[in-house]
Amino acid sequence: MVFTQSIQHLIREDEPLSGFTWARVGGAAKYFAEPGTQPELAQILSEAAAAGIPARIVGEGANILVRDAGYDGLVISLKAAEFSKVSIKDNVLTAGAGASLSQVVSASAGAGLAGIEYLAGIPGTFGGALVCNASVKNGDLGCRVTHVVAIEADGKSITLGSDQLRFGFQRSNLDGRFVIEAALQLETVDSAELTRRMQSSWIVKRAAQPASGQRALQAFVEPDGMSLSDVLEQSGVQGLNEGEISLSKQYPGYLVFSGEVKADEIIKFVQRVTTKVEAATGIRLHCPIKIW
Ligand SMILES: Cc1cc2nc3c(=O)[nH]c(=O)nc-3n(C[C@H](O)[C@H](O)[C@H](O)COP(=O)(O)OP(=O)(O)OC[C@H]3O[C@@H](n4cnc5c(N)ncnc54)[C@H](O)[C@@H]3O)c2cc1C
Repeated sequence: MVFTQSIQHLIREDEPLSGFTWARVGGAAKYFAEPGTQPELAQILSEAAAAGIPARIVGEGANILVRDAGYDGLVISLKAAEFSKVSIKDNVLTAGAGASLSQVVSASAGAGLAGIEYLAGIPGTFGGALVCNASVKNGDLGCRVTHVVAIEADGKSITLGSDQLRFGFQRSNLDGRFVIEAALQLETVDSAELTRRMQSSWIVKRAAQPASGQRALQAFVEPDGMSLSDVLEQSGVQGLNEGEISLSKQYPGYLVFSGEVKADEIIKFVQRVTTKVEAATGIRLHCPIKIW
């Protein structure tokens, strides 16, 4: 074992990752850790860096596809209570990366604070939502972020201000960092109005995506200024099905899986759809999924 004895009880070897992802496919992580405190996380990261072991954080796995060969490195989960706290002071909401996005959205609505209510229904942790910049047509999480706290590979913490952060539609420059906390600047509004907005966003979102518990991934996002559904329809790929993988007809852009399916088959399926769409329409679709 490359980790010192004081943290060995936090590390598991050859941990299957499929159960940590929405797709429920893929191999194992060589090392897996669930630290309970920030010093433990810092020590795990710095020892991994010193040993040349690459490390990543897994959130709810709603945007990850793990290859069948697994991940030859360290995967960290921030599920511990220490990383999942949500607090509100005046109009600023601060949350740990391990909190669920829905918990953060509900806390803001409960405090009568607006700005992220339209993200209701998007699966994931707050950390995953920051790194992937959880977005819908009318807004994104990134536009509310005032600062992000991350742990560097050497174990030291760093605060990134809004001038150092870049957010685009479902992307950010936080990829590759280890985010533990962030703060959002929100606005006070009438709480009845806010609850109404949050509920209607949730209803719209739930109707537009596979039900939670279904094995699914959002494989393609709306191209600039165009309807994704129209682009997929014009390309003849809407509802495309190969073995146990389908490009949902009901939920445009989502892949759904059943039975035995390999991560590599999913990757090839996404590539085939991308090529077909580009050949038919000239549009290169963006796939937001992180492939490990
Ligand atoms: C049914 C369904 C509907 C979806 N709808 C939307 C939608 O409307 N809009 C949208 O934007 N997305 C959507 N997504 C994608 C997904 O919900 C978001 O990307 C979500 O923010 C991912 O969060 P997660 O915790 O699951 O991240 P994961 O999938 O676990 O991780 C995603 C990436 O973030 C990194 N990461 C996670 N936590 C941290 C951390 N603390 N520090 C550093 N890196 C970290 C991981 O290493 C990985 O690279 C949808 C997905 C599904 C399955």
